[in-house]
Amino acid sequence: MNYTFSSFAHGLKSSAVRDILKLTQGNSIISLAGGLPAENYFPIDAVREAFERVFAEGGKSSLQYGLTEGYSPLREAICKRMAAQGVSVKPENMLMTTGSQQAIYLLTRVYLSAGDVILVENPTYLAALQIFKASGIQVVGVEADQDGMLMDDLEAKLNRYRPKMVYVTPTFANPTGKVWSTERRKGLLAQCRSNNVLILEDDPYGEIKFDANATYPSIFSLDEHPEDSAVLYTSTFSKTVVPALRTGWIVGDSRVIAQMAKAKQAVDLHSSTLDQQALYQLLAHFDLDAHIQTIRDEYRTRMQLMKSLLQDARFSDLRWDEPQGGMFFWAMLPEGIDASELLKKAVEKGVAFVPGVDFYAENPRRNTLRLNFTHTDNASMKIGLDRLAEALVAYKQSV
Ligand code: PMP
Repeated sequence: MNYTFSSFAHGLKSSAVRDILKLTQGNSIISLAGGLPAENYFPIDAVREAFERVFAEGGKSSLQYGLTEGYSPLREAICKRMAAQGVSVKPENMLMTTGSQQAIYLLTRVYLSAGDVILVENPTYLAALQIFKASGIQVVGVEADQDGMLMDDLEAKLNRYRPKMVYVTPTFANPTGKVWSTERRKGLLAQCRSNNVLILEDDPYGEIKFDANATYPSIFSLDEHPEDSAVLYTSTFSKTVVPALRTGWIVGDSRVIAQMAKAKQAVDLHSSTLDQQALYQLLAHFDLDAHIQTIRDEYRTRMQLMKSLLQDARFSDLRWDEPQGGMFFWAMLPEGIDASELLKKAVEKGVAFVPGVDFYAENPRRNTLRLNFTHTDNASMKIGLDRLAEALVAYKQSV
């Protein structure tokens, strides 16, 4: 057979993260690469009990096909959680998705066509970039500082490129860990509203904040919502419960949600009935907020350990900011050091990280890297950073 693939398939670059994860699986390499939560803190008993309740209460019907929009009691429960965070939405403004990854994919399919322009933070989440680029969308990076996108560059690029959408992760971004100021959130919203540009706000990490009292208003909450909103907001239970349930959701204007539901029928009819029912039972019988607080405390401790290790003299030429939440340190090596080359040395020494290059929509900075601090226990993290320091020495000796 002469297999001839579609332009979408041709647009799919193999992801560095996936290649590295393959490399590190089943051997002694310490991986600071993936964005994985800590397995020790998975609420395994609560998940088991939730599934038992599903079978006990739902019987065979829990194994049946379900609604494309998602399991109604779960959608109502999520509306209640969002209301507790000050955002009032109705189930008809919500689509349950197979992870928030699918929400990004579905919105891209129904809202953007090949040749359209999307503005993003640069760097940004690489699996979102994959979707945009494979779909033939022109992805343009907007300049930013620690507080988020620069409003004058945003304005210039809105005028120059006439984009249809802006994709942002304003709270603990992947890979940078950055948090946008409220002023920039409002600025983005105002500019997008006046230019009729949709915002996709991706918020998988917002609840993983190290200061439980800090408030980071979602851009969605700052807009009129949900009807006629300029913002579609997506989040997930992957970081707060477990990723294996593959359950995320997206909320916004009911016309957009209805289009996405039609697209979802074409993709997978609906997300797993069983998983959604289990999540519903878990929310009803398990103190998820207390669990989230436990994770915050543990991840803060792990972040602080990585911070103290990075403060060692061996890493004195690395630049980074202390993250206030999320899962990553984003670090900058001196100009001229290629993190992809450093990775080769690191893997030889037995540690992996993600080079920053793939997170850039354009003009990649090859001297950047992302380190995950949530998945590795204290002992392994110390060994991992020792190995990273050795790799840096080996790299410098080799050039
Ligand atoms: N958005 C961002 C920024 C992410 O980092 C991730 C997962 N790493 C996702 C979306 C997708 O998460 P999920 O599909 O598990 O909900």
